[in-house]
Amino acid sequence: MQGDDRRGDPKSWGAATRAVRGGTLRSGFDETSEALFLTSGYVYESPQEAEATFKGEIQRLQYSRFANPTVDMFERRLALLEGAAFCRATATGMAAATLALMSCVGAGDRVVGARALFGSCLYLLTDFLPRYGIETELVDGTDPAQWERALSRPAAAVLLESPSNPGLEIIDIRRVADLTHAAGGRLIVDNAFATPVLQRPMDLGADLVFHSSTKYIDGQGRTLGGAVLTSDRAFHDEHLLPLYRNTGPAISPFNAWVQLKGLETLALRMDRHGANALRVARFLETRPGIARVLHPDLESHPQHDLVRAQMSGGGGIVAFEMAGGKPAAFELMNGLGLIDISNNLGDAKSLITHPATTTHHRLTDAERARVGITGGLLRLSVGLEDPEDLISDLDRGLGG
Ligand SMILES: *Cc1c(COP(=O)(O)O)cnc(C)c1O
Repeated sequence: MQGDDRRGDPKSWGAATRAVRGGTLRSGFDETSEALFLTSGYVYESPQEAEATFKGEIQRLQYSRFANPTVDMFERRLALLEGAAFCRATATGMAAATLALMSCVGAGDRVVGARALFGSCLYLLTDFLPRYGIETELVDGTDPAQWERALSRPAAAVLLESPSNPGLEIIDIRRVADLTHAAGGRLIVDNAFATPVLQRPMDLGADLVFHSSTKYIDGQGRTLGGAVLTSDRAFHDEHLLPLYRNTGPAISPFNAWVQLKGLETLALRMDRHGANALRVARFLETRPGIARVLHPDLESHPQHDLVRAQMSGGGGIVAFEMAGGKPAAFELMNGLGLIDISNNLGDAKSLITHPATTTHHRLTDAERARVGITGGLLRLSVGLEDPEDLISDLDRGLGG
């Protein structure tokens, strides 16, 4: 297996070169495209070699639950893009969220989270962690006073998502990182919506980043996956890696291979997703019957300055609220011919979701209201189609 050494230090490469070539491990067959190693185990020359491996005297591949060449390539490349020293790829984004949290906390600890979280992440904080004696507190992520109050007491971990799903709230990552460190904890950021192309939370002070690579990193709705990244060697070696090795959330090599190749085109795709989303958002802003349109790149976004400061682009998600509530939202969805109804996002195909009745249906009305999920709210994951076709489809759905 040959690494990058001959071609210089990958950390000195530009982002596009890292995306295409970073982390490549070329086998003895001299292949151009990265190889897919579908193997669960590895063979030893001798019992002595196996013994030395298990004693930690030699470093070599041992078992694909914790190391596989294809998965390694995906982890190395994603780490280079995110600016992290370490990356562990997982079977799903939720496996990554669970691994990230569980590697930071123990019984008696306290965790603070921004309320506007992906539904299953919210479950981890409100249902799962408390069962193990971990106290959790939710705050409104856009309110600095609530962060200050919650982090005036010790906290082992803080979890936030920015931009948030589906309300596209933006949280000041650097500020929350400073408060988290003062409270003695680690800041964990869910970077699924932005991807490392549009936002690098670790540059802003985050200690851990995780992804649902199911979304934009795959980018074509094929495979599930996730990853946890950090640059803290001691934390990685003593907490993250042992949990990863022994609890088994590993990604399949096949999925890692698909997503490794996905990273090569991620920047190009994010650029187009963002441009298409802004075109669609601007169109929706001109239409009657729509109470508000949210996209981070719209000047009307309530935190547009913060978007400018911590993101290099607004991404592919548009949220908008039909003035006529749920009936108007459903009528629009039923009138669409091209855009598909789905709870997924980050696909080349444009997908529309009614969060109140699907992804966030388990919340109470009051909880939904607090994060802006009304009956009229729709989340549109803008794909890579021609924006004119998406605009005609929405125009038709809106009654022409
Ligand atoms: C999809 C998603 C997750 C969960 O990822 P899975 O791959 O579905 O497990 C977590 N956070 C965000 C923001 C997501 O969009």
